[in-house]
Amino acid sequence: MNAAADRDGAREAPASLPEGLRPETLAVRMGLPASRHGENSEALFLSSAFVQPDAETAARRFAQMEDFTYSRTANPSVRSLEMRLAAMEGAQAAIATATGMSAILLLGMGLLRAGDHVVCSRSVFGSTIGLFGKEFAKFGVRTDFVSQTDVGEWRGAMRPETRLLFAETPTNPLTEVCDIRALADLAHGAGALLAVDNTFCTPVLQRPLELGADLVMHAGTKFLDGQGRVMAGALCGSARLIREVFWPVLRTAGMVLSPFNAWVVLKALETLSLRMRAQSENTLAVARWLERHPAVERVFYPGLPSHPQHDLAMAQQSGVGGAVLSFIVRAADAQAARHAAFHVVDRTRVLSIAANLGDTKTIITHPATTSHGRLTEEQRQAAGITQGLIRLAVGLEHVDDITDDLQRGLGTL
Ligand SMILES: *Cc1c(COP(=O)(O)O)cnc(C)c1O
Repeated sequence: MNAAADRDGAREAPASLPEGLRPETLAVRMGLPASRHGENSEALFLSSAFVQPDAETAARRFAQMEDFTYSRTANPSVRSLEMRLAAMEGAQAAIATATGMSAILLLGMGLLRAGDHVVCSRSVFGSTIGLFGKEFAKFGVRTDFVSQTDVGEWRGAMRPETRLLFAETPTNPLTEVCDIRALADLAHGAGALLAVDNTFCTPVLQRPLELGADLVMHAGTKFLDGQGRVMAGALCGSARLIREVFWPVLRTAGMVLSPFNAWVVLKALETLSLRMRAQSENTLAVARWLERHPAVERVFYPGLPSHPQHDLAMAQQSGVGGAVLSFIVRAADAQAARHAAFHVVDRTRVLSIAANLGDTKTIITHPATTSHGRLTEEQRQAAGITQGLIRLAVGLEHVDDITDDLQRGLGTL
């Protein structure tokens, strides 16, 4: 912190924080020190430029990229978010981006060059498949998409030029879980890096770096904000990767996070642990209720013993299933299934019909005609996105109001 703050007696927050604080504490306390005014809630620095004390200092700061000069290079609100998120993920450093997708764009631009090869699960977020499979391919980077759960398929896809493995767990909407430690071992044995999209679990439930991953990616748009307000993204990893590989690209390419959005997410991280646990508890209750329902054929939720990777999920996700589930309504054929799913969606009066997740408001989605609507029916069948499938991203409403809302449709099929 600057001399003015010392003069005014403001405490330098991170410097004065004792070692060994737990994630819940860091989620509330980590960040840049308060300004000279001593605000208790972090200030929002909506400023594109920062005034320099003199030409000499300006020259040094611009040359060394230190302190704050221009918000495409660095901004205090964004920096505080990066510090807090890194602390929560157990990472040395983090870098924030405009959206989740731009975090993956930064990952690719920083790590990959023409001729490099990527292995990626074929169950990852749809736009992630588009970015690796189509956009990066334009620049000579090839990606092979493999099974989410079969490590043997990942191993079979490895090539001498494989530089990156990219995984997401659990996946959307079928909640398939992959073994982070096994993929990290595979990557490291081949001199490659493993990046994990941790959007669904957040560091509250799952810390991929502790399981051997090299990089964690976030769509902060989802649970980190958690109230459906802003877009945001981030990468977390070693100080070397973040500072030497990703910062130079971000500063040049400019997909930086808006300070306002950074501030919203920074404050939202303070309640992330409470929200994740409460929403996951609601989700488990809804999953159990659905599994007993005669109109439901199958429920996909890592917290249920019926989930194929239940044991792995419980070991990897702090014993918690997360706040997204999906289920299939019982029907005679695909046409009837679609009709039944639409009926359940349309009978709701409380849930939001939308295509987001990680909100305090429960969201109900029909993946086959929305998030996965652009796939052919054949591709959808291969991915398990059937017409009777409904996804729920469970929020903080009373659990009985959520099941009552689902019963309006499920009880009248
Ligand atoms: C939403 C999402 C993304 C993309 O994030 P945006 O902020 O929408 O760009 C990436 N991965 C997962 C798992 C997501 O849910």
